[in-house]
Amino acid sequence: MALRYIIEKGDPQLNKKSRPVTEFNDRLHILLDDMRETLKGANGYGLAAPQVGVLRQVVLVVDTSDTMKTPDEQIIELVNPVITEMRDEQEGPEGCLSVPGIYGIVKRPRYVEVRAQDRNGNDITVSGQGITARCFCHEIDHLQGRLFTEIAERILTDEELEMLATEEGNNV
Ligand code: ZN
Repeated sequence: MALRYIIEKGDPQLNKKSRPVTEFNDRLHILLDDMRETLKGANGYGLAAPQVGVLRQVVLVVDTSDTMKTPDEQIIELVNPVITEMRDEQEGPEGCLSVPGIYGIVKRPRYVEVRAQDRNGNDITVSGQGITARCFCHEIDHLQGRLFTEIAERILTDEELEMLATEEGNNV
């Protein structure tokens, strides 16, 4: 496993659409393993393949709702994810490993259901609420070349950021 370099806003790759994965081979597994390592190293809540310069429909989301799970078990791998259901609404701060130091207020559904494939090509359905739902949306947006800064209602000021920093991190 290797750490991959996380590209930042301004890199045109972040605005491109990712292609679906068609082969569930070693190459995909190495990408997923490297992404896991990179996500953990960066202390984030989620990571999309385009953030490491790979324009493929692959994302990781950390689901912390089950505290019995180890940090490794909390990472959900999604290949070719599609949101199939959205319910209710939430509004809150959101950040991104590719947009360091910037947080914005973003409206997202409170509950999301996602259909995807696992690393071996098996169909899976996952769901999440709260921050996990936010993460699913944020990461799947990356696959469309969309950053949260484009849909944020507003960007937080330095003062608001300081207040937020005393709470838990929101790097997704
Ligand atoms: Zn992001």
